[in-house]
Amino acid sequence: MEWIRTANLKKYNVIEAFHTFESLDWVKSGFEIVEGDIVYIYVGKPFSRIMFKTVCTCSQVEEYKRISDREFWGNPDEFNVRSDRIRLRLESKIVSDVLSIEILRKKHLIKTTIQGAYKAENYPELFSYIRQCFDEQDKHEISAYLRSLCENNDLQETEKNILAKARISQEYFKKKLLHKYGSQCAICGLDSKPLLVGSHIKPWAEATSAERLDENNGLLLCVMHDALFDRHFITFDEDGHIVISRSLTKEQRKILQIDPSIKISIRDETKCYMKIHYQKFFEREQSF
Ligand SMILES: [Zn+2]
Repeated sequence: MEWIRTANLKKYNVIEAFHTFESLDWVKSGFEIVEGDIVYIYVGKPFSRIMFKTVCTCSQVEEYKRISDREFWGNPDEFNVRSDRIRLRLESKIVSDVLSIEILRKKHLIKTTIQGAYKAENYPELFSYIRQCFDEQDKHEISAYLRSLCENNDLQETEKNILAKARISQEYFKKKLLHKYGSQCAICGLDSKPLLVGSHIKPWAEATSAERLDENNGLLLCVMHDALFDRHFITFDEDGHIVISRSLTKEQRKILQIDPSIKISIRDETKCYMKIHYQKFFEREQSF
């Protein structure tokens, strides 16, 4: 489910707060927003536009675990008010006016202004436009990121920047693999996106920047098969046949849904990466 929630800058400076924190705790106000829901934040005057795309990562934040964002409240006492809160993690930000109230009005997506909360099912056209704007924005961000990878040798780069870039590139990598594998685990066919991982064949830590983003260096796997592949309990030969560690018993293999008949298709561009994985697998097997 997708939502729009509004923010009054005089009351709470959400813009500054998102400069400081990656996630914020938002008063629930009775709306049943649950984990995984997308929440767009409409920022009131003087901006009067939708600026942030967030994802709900917790539908009930415990009071003692709250993010301490007192300084961003117009009246700091309001920070102390006890209330049901959800946690929203910033996904993306649009600074331009593509989602301003004037443009939304001109496009006849809203009548007057945005107040309270909006639910996607009641405003399909409005939400489809918002989605489209954020998709465009993400594409720009990724191409800017790819450019910066080629240019940026700045050693002063902050940890926060590095983490943000790592997250963007992981998401980009997963997106490409979701497309390539039709959003299914290459081994078992599980098709639940939150449970799928863009698994690097040559590990992230050992890969170059280009290799980290190269879809040929990836398999789309569910979390369980990713764990097996990442820890070299399984690998694949040149033709894509699975090779299973002899340390796994017959019963374990059954539980883990792996058997020697499994075969994935491996392109030539992937073979050089898989070769490294295959070698490591056999080095590891020696130890049993
Ligand atoms: Zn799987």
